Amino acid sequence: MSAVPDKNSSPAVRPFSELPLSAAVLANLEQLGYAQMTPIQAASLPLALAGRDLIAQAQTGSGKTAAFALSLLHRLDATRMEVQALVLCPTRELADQVTQEIRRLARAADNIKVLTLCGGSPMRPQAESLAYGAHIAVGTPGRLMDHLDRGTLQLGALNTLVLDEADRMLDMGFLDDIVKVAKQCPKDRQTLLFSATYPEGIAELARQFMREPAEVKVQAGGSGGSGQAAQAPAQIRQLAFEIAEAQRLHAVSSLLLHFRPARTIAFCNTKQQCRDLVDVLLAQGFVALALHGDLEQRERDQVLIQFANGSCSVLVATDVAARGLDIAQLECVINVDMSQDAEAHVHRIGRTGRAGAQGLALSLASLDEMGRVGRIEQLLGREFQWQALDQLAPTEGGAPLQPAMDTLQILGGRKDKIRPGDILGALTGEAGFESADIGKINITDFHSYVAVKRELAREVVKRLSNGKLKGRKVKVRRMADLVELG
Ligand code: AMP
Repeated sequence: MSAVPDKNSSPAVRPFSELPLSAAVLANLEQLGYAQMTPIQAASLPLALAGRDLIAQAQTGSGKTAAFALSLLHRLDATRMEVQALVLCPTRELADQVTQEIRRLARAADNIKVLTLCGGSPMRPQAESLAYGAHIAVGTPGRLMDHLDRGTLQLGALNTLVLDEADRMLDMGFLDDIVKVAKQCPKDRQTLLFSATYPEGIAELARQFMREPAEVKVQAGGSGGSGQAAQAPAQIRQLAFEIAEAQRLHAVSSLLLHFRPARTIAFCNTKQQCRDLVDVLLAQGFVALALHGDLEQRERDQVLIQFANGSCSVLVATDVAARGLDIAQLECVINVDMSQDAEAHVHRIGRTGRAGAQGLALSLASLDEMGRVGRIEQLLGREFQWQALDQLAPTEGGAPLQPAMDTLQILGGRKDKIRPGDILGALTGEAGFESADIGKINITDFHSYVAVKRELAREVVKRLSNGKLKGRKVKVRRMADLVELG
């Protein structure tokens, strides 16, 4: 592997126009509001456009999708209705995002067809779309393997293979599938590998499937060029517990009392199960909120604000409601019900253990669900580790872990021209609190939400109610009181 100096440690502005891109592509980028390259784009695009294989270290949000998308679009011949680029992603959620970004960037060219091929959707319509013809396929390794096995996807015309979030794919046990897919690609293709971390498996992939890959790494405070991430690879510890149906909801509290995760998403298969579980957890003293399709947008926002600002420790959600959530630092995922399809399970557990942190995925399975367990094990290529529920004792005194923060709702928001600084000012000024007592502030159209240290919440309500915000009296209450009243 040749290390490429990290040219982007300097914050110099690098316009897309310095790249060999067509005027139409440049105009489209301008229209998208991409005024200049992000550091990962500036580091990887010149090499990728020149046809080099790349190992790029990049996190989600860095602009990595455009870094590989612009390159694969550059090599694409729109007049040939064959799959010329394939992007492997760990989850359906990411595959959907990648597809959307490629479509946005492809607007500059003639009718480019991008297909998403993930599990959880029926095979046949995907096979029919493939038969009709596509230029680019984006999907999860398991489903792509299925299409290759059945001959519905052919890679003879492929010129770019992308492995996106390669470390997460390895964590999820997709190594064999990746290897099989890569073996079916033409040898003279370009391979672009993107990964947030560099576990040993990545070097192995590179040795097997890449041609003198250049390494690019753009990381604040990083040592540059070496390609070695300081963080350990993300790891997910998966444990499963066999339960009788009647035990299921109480089993969740046993898990929470034993493992004491600060933030958990508990996935249920139905809205009713979400409601029932929240009732059980609240009755036992946990701070839990439900997120499901019956909530109005405002309620959904309130739930997410409270979970994200550290004033709710358990979010009880359906898969659909949790789709698209970007919640960092999730210690634990609990599968209250086993998912009906294996890919959804992978998607659920992929929410923990991100970016180098150790994650914990706990699954409850009744005898009726063992078929699902088998399919998941097959997809992940590894078996569950089983533990007996009655061997888990509550730890640290056995009381439910309380979140550090509590959320207050203030009547008045963006439409009243309230800004975070106004709220912070009112709390640290007249009311006399320290800024360290105050957490995230979210402003919506008509309300503002401020997280404060849990033990101070009632006092903050009292002092703020007696004071003023932007010269006016303040109506403020704890969200928890609001819920109890409602
Ligand atoms: P990604 O890391 O690929 O998930 O991208 C994160 C977000 O940044 C996406 O919403 C992109 O549309 C956006 N983005 C990518 N490149 C640029 C750029 N050069 N300038 C502005 N936004 C960008």
